[in-house]
Amino acid sequence: MSSRRGFLKQVSLLSLGAMMLPETTFAAGKGKKAKKSAKGKMLGLQTYSLGPELQGDKVAQGLVRLREMGYGCIELAGYNNGKISGIPMAEYKKMADDAGIIIKSSHMNPNVLGRGEKYSRENMGKLRDFWKRATDDHAILGLPYMVQPGLPNISCLEDAQMAAEVFNIAGEETKKAGIRFGYHNHDREFGKVVAGGKGIDMNRNARDGRRIEEVFITETDPDKVLIELDVYWTVMGGQDPVEWINKYADRIQLLHIKDRLVLGQSGMMNFEQIFKNFYANGHETFFVEIEDTRSGKQFERVQTSAEYLLGSKFV
Ligand code: MG
Repeated sequence: MSSRRGFLKQVSLLSLGAMMLPETTFAAGKGKKAKKSAKGKMLGLQTYSLGPELQGDKVAQGLVRLREMGYGCIELAGYNNGKISGIPMAEYKKMADDAGIIIKSSHMNPNVLGRGEKYSRENMGKLRDFWKRATDDHAILGLPYMVQPGLPNISCLEDAQMAAEVFNIAGEETKKAGIRFGYHNHDREFGKVVAGGKGIDMNRNARDGRRIEEVFITETDPDKVLIELDVYWTVMGGQDPVEWINKYADRIQLLHIKDRLVLGQSGMMNFEQIFKNFYANGHETFFVEIEDTRSGKQFERVQTSAEYLLGSKFV
């Protein structure tokens, strides 16, 4: 075992050890215990939801506020060059520990290709290097998941299959540190592509071709790649998230719980069935997400969404 792998393994075993300790032992720093809220629910939040309100010198206090609202864990956004939103990883981890918040996941897209450049045999090495580096940087956080949220440039079936191949490579790299790799969808993943095609067909009734999401799920190795289903974007892609959750019960292991804006207000999302079926499949980790991040009302909306879930019997 190389020293790098040895180091990563050690870090991940330490994290695993920490996770298995009783909560009282796990409580870090001076903060409150990172555990389920008073009502026994483990609410997660994708930190992208807070936009500029959770950056730089606002992070430490912002994490404390999240804990007070009932959030127990977060999925990070904003990884770049060994930092999260400009903050060194170790410092971010300390702030989360102090606030009593568990860092469970982190979103990132490989930023090593040219604009519009497709995944290919030629740039696969570059992509592997990105995931190697990102894994090294994230190992210190002791988190269980790293997730790619952005669709690579795809216009035909072969592109989708090439992306699936690269996801396997990403999963191979994260696994060396005991971290699971996942892919997160928007709506275009539910469009169809054909062999040798020139674009994604978003027509819900399109007959020809295969849905990109389905290619990603069926042509990646379950041992290396899991699926984080964004339920709102699934609906926007013309699909029923409950059907997908059940069709790929073993693969869809994480959820993005998202509505048009604040959770439960649009009436278009059947959260009750989504949670019920997801839990029945043996999974429990989800992250609330609100994508309008420039309103100045981010904390308010994140809080109202937490209240909605804390008051829902199905969570
Ligand atoms: Mg999402």
